[in-house]
Amino acid sequence: MAFVEGEIYRCSDPTCGCEVTVTKGAPKSCSGTANPTCCCGKEMTKISG
Ligand SMILES: [Zn+2]
Repeated sequence: MAFVEGEIYRCSDPTCGCEVTVTKGAPKSCSGTANPTCCCGKEMTKISG
């Protein structure tokens, strides 16, 4: 799902725990489904928004 403003993503590695907030969403026309990747290399998953 495309990024929506306000969503929070967290690193899937609990020892890392990094979180990012989407401050500007993707265009509604974006059909991508990729999750962001943390600086540690793990995939981040949506926890809010
Ligand atoms: Zn991480």
